[in-house]
Amino acid sequence: MIHVGIGYDVHKLVQGRKLILGGVDLHYSKGLEGHSDADALMHAVCDAILGALGEGDIGHFFPNTDPRWHNAPSRLFLQEAARMVRLRGGQIINVDSTVIAQEPRIAPHIHAMKASIAHALDVNQARISIKATTNEGLGFIGRGEGIAALAVASVNLP
Ligand code: MG
Repeated sequence: MIHVGIGYDVHKLVQGRKLILGGVDLHYSKGLEGHSDADALMHAVCDAILGALGEGDIGHFFPNTDPRWHNAPSRLFLQEAARMVRLRGGQIINVDSTVIAQEPRIAPHIHAMKASIAHALDVNQARISIKATTNEGLGFIGRGEGIAALAVASVNLP
């Protein structure tokens, strides 16, 4: 049976933080605020996989009140989601995602982000899709106040 899940995440852009997206440091003047490394893309992908499993969301498994996840690299969350798929005897078929950011340009980093997500999930890079768009200057994303990410995942479960 093919199960599909969706994920959405948004984090605020602030001074004094690294901008980590898809496990890659984008070396931007601001970074995403959050308890972990605030990697909105990995969080959206994690939620999509958990959604396909019908297992709730990232906040349930990795609460932002838990000191273990303070500044934690979000690949840990993806590794755990992939482990849950394998425990169920399942297989991740594909992940598609979109980063919505006014700045910086995401496109030059997409190859590295795909490799990083594929590695964390232990799947072939061909199964991971990452796209990027601006918000045409509209709203909080358009003003550069935050970055959002959307993801869908399909998982084959016995
Ligand atoms: Mg998040």
